[in-house]
This record gives sequence, C-alpha cells and structure tokens, in this order.
Amino acid sequence: MNLPSPSYDFLTSTLQNLPPETPEWSLANGATARWHERGILELIPSQLNDATDRVLVSCGVHGNETAPIEVANGILLDIQQGHLPLAAHVLLMFGNPEAMQAGERYLDYDMNRLFNGQHAKHPATREAQRAALLEQEAAAFFERAPAGCRRLHYDLHTAIRGSVFERFAIYPYLHERDYNREQLCWLESADITTVLLHSQPAATFTYYTSRHHQADSLTLELGKARPFGENDLSRFAGIDQALRRLLSGRREPLPPFANERFQLFRAKYDLVKHSDAFRLHLHDQVENFTLLEDGFVIAEDQDVRYQAQGGNERILFPNPKVGNGLRAGIVIEPVTI
Ligand SMILES: [Zn+2]
Repeated sequence: MNLPSPSYDFLTSTLQNLPPETPEWSLANGATARWHERGILELIPSQLNDATDRVLVSCGVHGNETAPIEVANGILLDIQQGHLPLAAHVLLMFGNPEAMQAGERYLDYDMNRLFNGQHAKHPATREAQRAALLEQEAAAFFERAPAGCRRLHYDLHTAIRGSVFERFAIYPYLHERDYNREQLCWLESADITTVLLHSQPAATFTYYTSRHHQADSLTLELGKARPFGENDLSRFAGIDQALRRLLSGRREPLPPFANERFQLFRAKYDLVKHSDAFRLHLHDQVENFTLLEDGFVIAEDQDVRYQAQGGNERILFPNPKVGNGLRAGIVIEPVTI
C-alpha cells in the first residue's frame, strides 16, 4: 500500500485519466489517501474521531477555472510529502475533468445548474452524469460523518467577468437554518468579506450539500479565470492559507462576527429573459457588483421593465446570452444579519 510515490500528482493523473496503481496508499504522517473515481480523492488523517472536521473541497466544477485547482493540488502535494500535517477528514473533488482537459467551462451543460436533482432533467449531457456522481460521493462522505463534527463544503471558483469586490462568497439559501457566523469569520480570515446571501433554492453544488447534508457550504469566487500555468497564485494566498490552517487543524481564535467588517448582500430579484426581445442596458464588460443608479432601466423585455430603485442595488452575474426563461442577472441589495 505504499504506491504511488510521494511525487504522485493527482492533477496530472486526473487530466490524463490515469488511475493510480493502487486505490489506497499511505501518505506522510500516517495519513491515508483513497482514490474513488477520476478526480475524486479522500484523505483520512491518522487521528480520526467523532470531532474530526469533515471537509469537502471541490474545484473545477467549471473546467476552465484553474487557479483553485492549482491551489488545492498544491495543498495536496504538501500533505502527501509531509510538509503539511493532516488533521481533517477530506474529500477533494476536481469537478469536471473532461472540461478541465478541454480548457472549457463545460462541455454540454453548465454543471453548477445540475445539482439538487436537476441532472435527471438533462440525462444526455456529460455534466449530468458527473453531477449525479458528485452528489453520490458527497452524500456518502457526509452520511458517514458522526453527528458532532463540523461538516464543511467549499466549492472554489473563479470568474471571467471582473468584479468591484475581487473575491466574494455565495451563501446558499438556508431555509429555516441560521447563518453560521463562525463560517463568515473564517471567510474573513481567507480575505473574503463580500458575501451574497442567497434567498431561494438553487441547482448549485453548495445548495445541495447544505440542504441535504446540513453542511456549512459556501461557493467561493476567488478572482479571474485563466488557463493552467497562467495564474498568479499570490492573488489566492488568502484561501490557500485559510485552507491549510483548516486542514492541518490550526484553529486560531477569530474575532466575533460584526456586520461592519463585511459587505453582505441579499438577492432581491432575478432578471429573467422571457423572450428574444430581452435587452440588457449594461455594457458587455460590466463588473459584478456594479452599483445601479436610482431609476436606471437595467433591462427591458417586451412589456417588462426592470428599473433600479434607491441607488443601493447592484448587478451580479449579468448574462443576456442565456436561453429564454433563464436568469440573465441578479439584482442584489445590501443587508445586515
Ligand atoms: Zn465557476
């Protein structure tokens, strides 16, 4: 059980679709790696008990968002080679290996619209099969977790569009649960203080794990999407260091939550593209979180007019090229909790 070697590179083997020679092997410091599927690796610490954190780290759900993949792979290499101790039970996922290989966001369908059972509606797409597999793997991981441990899921992304706030998180809709302020403070320790609090169910990976497995789940948007090898990883130092502290069990005391240190937003409404007549009155390069002036007509679609109110609203994920009936952007507003 000692193969592969300490130089085994999970990212390369995922891209080349080469399974390791043995499905389970020893890492430094008594930890164990267990290969599940292409792009899915479980890391088991030598000391595993009911209080051990269960942490799902996913990246590459969009195949061209490479920086988080490189960050995660770098952390894995350091655990493997004994430079970083492992204190958490980890499931690492490279979400969409085929799209990663192709350098594309997705091949057939946006995978982060296919979770929470939506994959069953698009069975012919490659992403639907993969999303179903990721759900099964996440379910098996969290269902084995004892009641008292922390269940955490961070789904790491980057964006093509620029952003007024370079890094931000999306907190999936929690239904009756309250926000975990300790998680917000952990985000702050990763240099992320802008958070969208989602106000309805979604077909995203983090909504799925939050809703069905009671995980504290967050989607993290960490900066610009670039091809493999072209990332300035120093811009990702905040999340890199925060994940390293978490996975190695260094729980440093964090200051208590205070609204003043965060920019929290809630989704107010979706801009829905009803027809081909939909016109978005924002330029193509408009940045996420751009402020919308009071009275500004954001979009029009036949007899529907979307008009900004109050001067505090901002635009998120504008995309007039979506199909009819789909969301072409979110109008958000500041909120405190
Ligand atoms: Zn993404």
